[in-house]
Amino acid sequence: MRRGSAALPVLMLVAACGNEAETNPARLASPSDVTDEVLEAAAPNGDWLMYGGNYAEDRFSTLDQITKENVDQLGLVWSYDFDLRGGVETTPLVVGGVMYASGPWSVVHAIDARTGERLWRYDPGVPRIRGRLACCDVVNRGVAMYEGKIIVGTLDGRLVALDAATGEVVWDALTIDPNEAYTITGAPRVVQGLVIIGNGGAEYGVRGYVSAYDADTGEMAWRTYTVPGDPADGFESDAIEMAAATWSGEWWIAGGGGTAWDGMAYDPGLDLLYVGTGNGSPWSRNLRSPGGGDNLFLASILALRPATGEYVWHFQTTPGDHWDYTAVQPLTLADIEFDGRMRRVIMQAPKNGFFYVLDAETGEFLSGQPYITLNWADGLDLETGRPVERPEAVHTVDWTVITPAALGGHNWQPQSYNPLTGLMYLPIQEGWVERSEDPDWEFTDLQIADHSFGPAVNNLGHRSRSAGRDDPGFLIAWDPKAQEPRWSVELAGYWNGGTMTTATGLVFQGGGDGRFVAYDGENGDALWEASTHLGILGGPVTYLVDDQQYVSVAAGWGGARGRSGAPYGEAANYEQRGRLFTFAIGGTTPIPAARTKRPFFVPDLELPTDETALAAGRRLYGQYCGSCHGARGGSEGAMPNLQRSTAITHRNFERIVIEGSREEEGMPSFTGLLDADEVRLIQAYVVSGARASLAEASAADASPDSHD
Ligand code: CA
Repeated sequence: MRRGSAALPVLMLVAACGNEAETNPARLASPSDVTDEVLEAAAPNGDWLMYGGNYAEDRFSTLDQITKENVDQLGLVWSYDFDLRGGVETTPLVVGGVMYASGPWSVVHAIDARTGERLWRYDPGVPRIRGRLACCDVVNRGVAMYEGKIIVGTLDGRLVALDAATGEVVWDALTIDPNEAYTITGAPRVVQGLVIIGNGGAEYGVRGYVSAYDADTGEMAWRTYTVPGDPADGFESDAIEMAAATWSGEWWIAGGGGTAWDGMAYDPGLDLLYVGTGNGSPWSRNLRSPGGGDNLFLASILALRPATGEYVWHFQTTPGDHWDYTAVQPLTLADIEFDGRMRRVIMQAPKNGFFYVLDAETGEFLSGQPYITLNWADGLDLETGRPVERPEAVHTVDWTVITPAALGGHNWQPQSYNPLTGLMYLPIQEGWVERSEDPDWEFTDLQIADHSFGPAVNNLGHRSRSAGRDDPGFLIAWDPKAQEPRWSVELAGYWNGGTMTTATGLVFQGGGDGRFVAYDGENGDALWEASTHLGILGGPVTYLVDDQQYVSVAAGWGGARGRSGAPYGEAANYEQRGRLFTFAIGGTTPIPAARTKRPFFVPDLELPTDETALAAGRRLYGQYCGSCHGARGGSEGAMPNLQRSTAITHRNFERIVIEGSREEEGMPSFTGLLDADEVRLIQAYVVSGARASLAEASAADASPDSHD
């Protein structure tokens, strides 16, 4: 194992100007200075070097120029437009006055952090058809930085290392079997010279794993599976053999799932790498493992040795997961006193609705309580942390109301922990769904390599329908010691951004309504806000450039909820295209305008309007188009609303769909999958939707109620 032979870089000591700051946060000169020593020391704090801010992933900054007293003077300094459609979930990295941010389709942008000017752009050229395998949009949550390289995981399963100065490719490593439905949306982490990456795909039938690659060469160092494969092929480790004893039937045929698509953390003192694992494939435990069992290591926190990937301990949050209750959610390390003694703990609020505090060294369950309404369990066993399931929640073919819904009480949106307030700032959401097992389900082995796998298929084994309930979203300040909320703010809607917190007691968060807000971390009072017009999902960052503290956040509505679902409040009026915003005290740049949505439009074209044709169009649309473009083509989220398509788009409909004339913008070609007659039926169905929406809009205009 190569580790840290280089000498510590010379740190530039920068005095914070214009206040009584006692600390002089150091900054690095360039990405070449980002070494193991720097990362392990969790310093300096004038840059933002890692996805979670540091290895503990607490997203806490010691910078103190922006305070509760002056935060109302924050103003925009610059903004930067992402050029492709799709959600933006990135947490940008900043070093040496340069920002590195990933956008839709795993494109990496290097930006001058003083001016917002583009320095370089790298497009990994992900085939757009691969977007059909991205359950939750063509997003990317961030890059890693190490010894002069910027490293990105791509939607088509590669790790690519770029020269931080130029954006030139240094190495490019395929981390998946391209015939399997894997995708990468998460940020790589670098530990001891190894780039750690997992992947997603458990909605389509894959076996989860996490791998490590040499940061210099791109050569694979190790791979650790998170669920057992076919026992006939032998077990990779004792841990996997132990896990296999908790499965039954022929689980490996549908992959098993357990994909590690987001949360990780690292403790240099304990030399443990923590990885969260995902849901089962298929979702239904009855179909996946008919004889029951906990199905290790689904929905678990795994502690591994970073040098080898060797299993050390696990904690399973949802044994025998039946509800898509992943435990890939963000993981945060901290020192917290429990029962009179200081403990190194790891904390997570996974999808299942419970907030967990575990001993970071042993995985021992210290405490857990619901952070949101949940109805699938009666609580946790106080000794073991095992949930006490409600039998009626393990639904079969009968429709059953479940909360949290599939997106969980908390999803990938970053949390932040402030050691000064002792609070975790957590974006959460309350969702209800009706679920039943799909009696006709059979595993479909997608043939991915040539992308000719026909209609979009999921391998859930479940059916879902609306429970007809409200689904509010909240920002809460959770006290992990008392296991209760200190304060809570209801947000404009369900799906919102991550958080960041500072030594001055501020908490920054963007909302699905486009508002970027600074809260008082003690009580949740909103002290400042800016309206960006664009739904915000990503994690905010803060850093110094030329002695000045900046705060940046990427807006870009999308993801699992926002791909076709509308943003909230004022943002709902605008087309949603990603944009990065940077603020500082005294910034005077106006927030740029966003493009107002186009009106519904019915083209002057001869298209079938009879019921048979529209029914056929509806079926084809549902199989090929609906997951991105929403019901009847009427997405109000990140993807284009086809009911608002222009005359030019309608004239070119067949060219766009079959020939792929808009592949650059993200619309794949469906050549070989759809023929011209079928495309015409889809278009007829979309136009019928536009006609209905126009009629609804004019009826609403005519109604006296609309003038309230
Ligand atoms: Ca899932």
